[in-house]
Amino acid sequence: MMRKYFTYALLLGPLLGAQNKETENSVYQQNWVLSEKENEALAFDADIRLSESELTLDKKLFRLRKQFLSETEKQKIPLYNLSFNEIKPLIESSTLFKIIQDMPKGGLLHTHSGGVTDVKWVIATARKYKECYVYDQKDNDRFIFGQLAFFESGKVPEGFVNLDKKLTSDAHFEKELQELLILKRDNLCNYNNYWIEFEKRFKRISLLLPYRPFFKEYYIKGFQDLAKDKVQHVEIRFIFDELYDFQHGKYPVKTSVTDLQEIVKEVRRSNPRFSLKLIYSSFKFLDPAAIDKQLEMAFQLKKEFPDMISGFDLVADEAAGHSINSFRDNWAKLNELNKKYGIELPLFLHAGESNSVFNKNVVDISLLDNQRIGHGLNLIYFPKTMERIRKQGKFVEVSPISNQILGYVSDLRNHPARVLLSNGIQCSINSDDPGVYGYEGLSYDFWMAFVYWELDVKALKKLVFNSINYSSLNDGEKKKSVDYLNKEWNEFVQKINLTVN
Ligand SMILES: [Zn+2]
Repeated sequence: MMRKYFTYALLLGPLLGAQNKETENSVYQQNWVLSEKENEALAFDADIRLSESELTLDKKLFRLRKQFLSETEKQKIPLYNLSFNEIKPLIESSTLFKIIQDMPKGGLLHTHSGGVTDVKWVIATARKYKECYVYDQKDNDRFIFGQLAFFESGKVPEGFVNLDKKLTSDAHFEKELQELLILKRDNLCNYNNYWIEFEKRFKRISLLLPYRPFFKEYYIKGFQDLAKDKVQHVEIRFIFDELYDFQHGKYPVKTSVTDLQEIVKEVRRSNPRFSLKLIYSSFKFLDPAAIDKQLEMAFQLKKEFPDMISGFDLVADEAAGHSINSFRDNWAKLNELNKKYGIELPLFLHAGESNSVFNKNVVDISLLDNQRIGHGLNLIYFPKTMERIRKQGKFVEVSPISNQILGYVSDLRNHPARVLLSNGIQCSINSDDPGVYGYEGLSYDFWMAFVYWELDVKALKKLVFNSINYSSLNDGEKKKSVDYLNKEWNEFVQKINLTVN
């Protein structure tokens, strides 16, 4: 109704000039303006003041988005009813995407070991190892079709064939294998149990990653892609495996950490400010006794590598795993463990990756020392908890594309994070498992958020800076990281203003 009235008022403006003035000064209109301001003051980015050049950029991005939307409308592309997979080429061809690729993104605070790197690269690199094999039989209890692994010759289990030979002899197999390693949501109406398919993707590469030579290549590639996409800091929910090779056998768990430290040094040669933290991750389907052991291991690792290990998380499908509350005895022991090891191990739990009100994991978050929450999608159904989390200054790591692919949100305009942001809950944008979803970097998620959530430069800037301010970098590292980000951000604003009309 209101909008219609304003449209008419605009159209008839010249005729109704006098009347307009009266409406503007009316108490009703003053209250309307006040209400709008009150809403704006609640938003997560209310404290950001843009510079003149940022305001210029804002106008440009607003116009580019408008042009993009009217162009898709003209071409009769039903943008809001298409999945990420379907619009990926459209995103890539847009000017907006090129600008977002150029935008410094600060930190990627939510991603997983095994989900970081492009699967096309995984296949191309794995086949170079003559000891790499692929399982090409029907799924059984031990292996599934398309599962990759390394074996010494003479010790290859039945059903596995050499990967390079298989790819050379069967022209269709590369495409088939790619499809087996990528999870797509082809259209927005085919909801099934995505988690079963999702976990199969991880299983297919799970035997590749602990092989130490491949492990090193995998993370160098993953980090370089992220750095190229203007991500300066990465935090991985890391599942610790014993690395191995055939000369030496198994290495101790800490070898993953020391190898990653070396890899970071290597990445820093071309990207001097690149940094990494690992969040020790275990699984929600384990029992409390097993989690006790996992917590001890996490404390031991953090004690040895305080600058590398930042905290603890439990991953896996929340609908199938145990509730956070069922581990309450484990959480109650955290203080004791803090004292025993003389260090703190904050929680970074996934909570509320769900559409159900029966999943109450977010309620636990407001009661635990858990500064950062993975997903928090159903937080909006627990208003008191949401308010508490806002007051506690707790933070939500949002992964728009992941949430669509795993079936939690269809039309991204309806993503719950919009409610969190307008209620003043601080968030950042993340990619969760880009390798498994068939893309690299963080630009796609920012593009989706910018277009579907009608963000402006103020919101983008706040999301980007949040990702460093709420990172687990220590105070000294954080200061350096923010200084660098500020410099990069200002350069980006100048560059786009100069090059884009
Ligand atoms: Zn996750």
